[in-house]
Amino acid sequence: MSMLITGSIALDTVKTQLEEHADLLGGSASYGAIAGSFFTDVHLVGIVGEDFPQRYLDLYRKHRVNLDGLQVVPGKTFRWHGEYEWDMNERRTLSVALNVFEHFEPQLPASYRRLPYVFLANIAPQLQLHVLAQMERAKFIVADTMDLWIETAREPLLELLRQVDCLVLNESEARQFTKETSLIKAGRKILQWGPRYAVVKKGEHGCLLFGADFFFSAPAYPLEDIHDPTGAGDCFAGALTGYLASRDRVDHDTLRKAVIYGSAVASFNVEAFSLGRLQTLTRQDIEHRYQLFKLMSHFEIG
Ligand code: AMP
Repeated sequence: MSMLITGSIALDTVKTQLEEHADLLGGSASYGAIAGSFFTDVHLVGIVGEDFPQRYLDLYRKHRVNLDGLQVVPGKTFRWHGEYEWDMNERRTLSVALNVFEHFEPQLPASYRRLPYVFLANIAPQLQLHVLAQMERAKFIVADTMDLWIETAREPLLELLRQVDCLVLNESEARQFTKETSLIKAGRKILQWGPRYAVVKKGEHGCLLFGADFFFSAPAYPLEDIHDPTGAGDCFAGALTGYLASRDRVDHDTLRKAVIYGSAVASFNVEAFSLGRLQTLTRQDIEHRYQLFKLMSHFEIG
């Protein structure tokens, strides 16, 4: 089965304490789309300006991402500039320029409307709702969000929660959103707001998956060299949705595996800036790391 993805498409400038790179391919939808493409056909809904480099369009095409839903309009592509501290969980946004996003009205091509699996990557919840309104018969909808929308667009976000199957967010966002210090209470509260499942990501400490009568805790892969954490969460959710689409089922067993595939792809992504590492990644590499996750979490051998 195929998946639809919408979210931001950006030209990023990313600074760590050791390196800085400009005009990188970024945006939640870019990371999610390429991550999902290891598992299924991805159909992208988004917007870029005329300055968007051809080489990035070629990169999507190399991963067989369908671009019929991509608008290329006069103006400049969305830009984000961020800086990481030595502790890479700490990130500061130095500047954001919405540019073409200011007047974005997502339009789904007819061929996209019945796609069964959907990942609404991080973007204003009003736009996520606008995309959902054009979908017919989606089987499973995953949504991501960020602190900015929790602060400035709480009502549309709560409306979105009533319409999606799974919300993915990081631990600080989960606490901020629910006003709970305990992540367990936060996860439960999110479920009360609508979705059947919630995933709380804890960066280098793994993630928690909550369902009504279901709980799963996944470790993170113990990486020594993290070059650029940007987009890890988007890769996680893109790969998770892509894996569910490839299996065309959403039972607890498949969800647990999807969380591990998501964690594996995210762990590769942080090994290089932008989507650099995913360019050379193979499905075999992903399977190998999936097996290492399995070994790492088994505690009763024999
Ligand atoms: P993450 O590391 O998962 O938070 O995602 C990073 C990506 O989010 C970057 O590539 C940015 O271009 C993109 N981004 C930053 N700010 C926003 C925003 N306000 N809306 C949508 N995407 C954003």
